[in-house]
Amino acid sequence: MVLRKLEAEDSPISEPLVDTQPPKTKKLAVGTGASIVVERCQVCDSSELESVIFIGYLPPVNTMPAIGTRPSEQPAYPAQVLHCRVCQLVQLGLIVDPGILFPPSYPYTSGTTKILRDNFSQLYEEVQNLFPLAPDDLVVDIGSNDGTLLSNFFNAGHRVFGIEPTRAGDLANARGIPTVMSFFGRDIVRHVVEKQGQAKIITATNVFAHIEDIHEIVDSVLDLLRDDGLFVTESHYLLSLVETLQYDTIYHEHLRYYSLTSLRNLLAMHDLEVVHARRIPTHGGSVRVYAARKGKYPVADSVSSMLATERQELSDSKLQLFREGVVRSKLELFALLKDVKASGSKVYAIGAPSRASTLVNYVGLDEGIIDCVLEIKGSYKIGKYMPGTLIPVLEEGRLYSDQPEYALLLSWHIADELISNLARRGFRGKFIIPLPKPRVVSAP
Ligand SMILES: [Zn+2]
Repeated sequence: MVLRKLEAEDSPISEPLVDTQPPKTKKLAVGTGASIVVERCQVCDSSELESVIFIGYLPPVNTMPAIGTRPSEQPAYPAQVLHCRVCQLVQLGLIVDPGILFPPSYPYTSGTTKILRDNFSQLYEEVQNLFPLAPDDLVVDIGSNDGTLLSNFFNAGHRVFGIEPTRAGDLANARGIPTVMSFFGRDIVRHVVEKQGQAKIITATNVFAHIEDIHEIVDSVLDLLRDDGLFVTESHYLLSLVETLQYDTIYHEHLRYYSLTSLRNLLAMHDLEVVHARRIPTHGGSVRVYAARKGKYPVADSVSSMLATERQELSDSKLQLFREGVVRSKLELFALLKDVKASGSKVYAIGAPSRASTLVNYVGLDEGIIDCVLEIKGSYKIGKYMPGTLIPVLEEGRLYSDQPEYALLLSWHIADELISNLARRGFRGKFIIPLPKPRVVSAP
């Protein structure tokens, strides 16, 4: 194996690591009922891994006992983030068996925020603009959920096919979008190619960081992709994570935190070339990347310009500043809450997505500080405790009947959308936005 480090004198658009091979021996957590420590890079097999940040031991985000349950022994897993000095991948230092993270009882979440729906419709327009589809071209979405992304292509008359492991696929089928309930891999790809042929466009949004055997996934994508096909991925973006201190997106479902640099290295190991990339606003900041077989399409300037930015903004010293910023924001949030509680005010938190569990546990919030976390009616989390705490999750209506002085926005990355919604529905208190700089705001 030939490993080549990115040295300081390399130009920002140095060639990706094409000579690097995936790890020869696969040590996977899946099926072990436990976890494995990451000793070598998940992508390039290097042992040159450096700690970026350690945010402590986190309970699995689905560990939510019913309200009233007496606390009992429960597992927690260390969340250390590592940076590979060879392929630049930032990754979690521990991989937990997905059987623990996603037990059969794990409910699917469908439906999407406005920002996601807008993003998918914009993705459709961008694809049509850059790589116009012929009427018969097939579009396949990996992790297609309720079919929201594909509906944009479907409504415009294109052939579409969804692959989705959860029952959210039922919703897609009900709206006419053919969807098979399956994990993505070689077997399902063989089935799709037999029935539908290969795909001109393959999309994978917000799934690329979650699957353990990433090389197997990319190989399966290649099997499914037509010779002139395009593979479009959207992943939470490391630069956004660093810029806005989004340590709360660190939890064990997220195994990798991609930059364009590291994603390009991964794809190049499979002879895929990144031809276009850009930042998009979903999940607090993501990156959309178009890749094709090498030499099939011209490479847009967007690629070299993003790589150059990353070289500046994701340097070792910037990662060090990120760590210091995270610690500062934790202390400042605690100080803000100390003053709020000293005045005798009530604080209800809004939203219990996975990222909320990390924030609550890392900052050390408990039921003495936060009276409750509110979820919209119908959420399966209502009636349970937040992971690792005795903070109850209750129905959103409590916000309007109780009118606490403060609402802490745990989905702070969509603060604008939340603030206008909650104020419109009748909440008269103030809002605490925990990140990146903890602050109090009033509804406009
Ligand atoms: Zn690596």
